[in-house]
Amino acid sequence: MKKHNFSAGPCILPQEVMVKASEAVIELDDIGLSLIEISHRSKEFVAIMEEARSLALELLGLEGKGYQALFLQGGASTQFITVAYNLLESKAGYVNTGTWSDKAIKEARLFGEIIEVASSKDKNYNYIPKGYGIANDLDYLHLTSNNTIFGTQIKEFPTTQVPLVCDMSSDIFSRQLDFTKFDLIYAGAQKNMGPAGTTLIVVKEDLLGNVSRKIPSMLDYQVHIGKDSMFNTPPVFAVYVSLLTMRWLKDMGGIPTIEEINEKKANLLYSEIDLNPMFQGFAKTEDRSHMNATFTLADESVKDTFDAMWKEAGINGLNGHRSVGGYRASMYNALTLESVGVLVDVMSDLERKG
Ligand SMILES: *Cc1c(COP(=O)(O)O)cnc(C)c1O
Repeated sequence: MKKHNFSAGPCILPQEVMVKASEAVIELDDIGLSLIEISHRSKEFVAIMEEARSLALELLGLEGKGYQALFLQGGASTQFITVAYNLLESKAGYVNTGTWSDKAIKEARLFGEIIEVASSKDKNYNYIPKGYGIANDLDYLHLTSNNTIFGTQIKEFPTTQVPLVCDMSSDIFSRQLDFTKFDLIYAGAQKNMGPAGTTLIVVKEDLLGNVSRKIPSMLDYQVHIGKDSMFNTPPVFAVYVSLLTMRWLKDMGGIPTIEEINEKKANLLYSEIDLNPMFQGFAKTEDRSHMNATFTLADESVKDTFDAMWKEAGINGLNGHRSVGGYRASMYNALTLESVGVLVDVMSDLERKG
């Protein structure tokens, strides 16, 4: 039986996507060949890449607005470098909301001056800084929309005069935002979109070509745009499975529909965390993530009991990241409300046992 998979990433994908993906590995759409043995220049794969790129823009409401979508390799971590390579001429601002922003800052420092505009490091990143000033002479401001490890999420994005860049790896396609506010969005596939191996980049084209340094081809967004995201062999399987997940999302009604479901899941779990005296939430209430809920036990002595109970209930992937401890329940798009219900039942059973 399939487990209730709360893993933080790689993570759960829709079951129907898994079935279609596994079929395509054997044979893609009755063409007598496997998805992973055909040329990426074949008309079948070119169509897959084109649909994936346009569907990403469509789901975000960014079609025909000067944006391009790319599916590149190297994970979100390579984007920490690529963003700076392409956009950082002298000075950029970064809001430090956790491990991933911190890593993005470290990489960008290789290319210019980085201003840490705000940070929540003082409280082990359990909140989102707000009300900070943003200088007008920055090349861009970089944010992390959802902090996968700490379980915080930006609910309101600042209005900026400077280009806005956002790492949306762990909440892409999970909620409605005015995506036109952003000039560059990137997201590693393996949190909410597909298997590991590709990263979605959505970039406003007029942002590019403004730095004086020479950019190696593989790190140059303009090169990838010029080659329709096929400058070199793309990660064909990861792109195809991401496309299947985007189709699944579109068929159910797109981001507005999944946002409602995600809200129900988060409300169900957070009300249990708030009401059940056995548990304590980690993230500040107003900033807590609808994707990754972080919490600890009020009394560590029941840890073994609780761990045995959730494992017995068929739950997987609940252990917290070592920098927070406790537990982390990741409730990405494909996780059902029923699975969250199973976790909540286990939590209230623990309270009953006392
Ligand atoms: C997982 C994660 C990353 C790193 O992604 P890789 O694809 O492993 O490089 C970056 N940012 C955020 C917010 C993440 O959750």
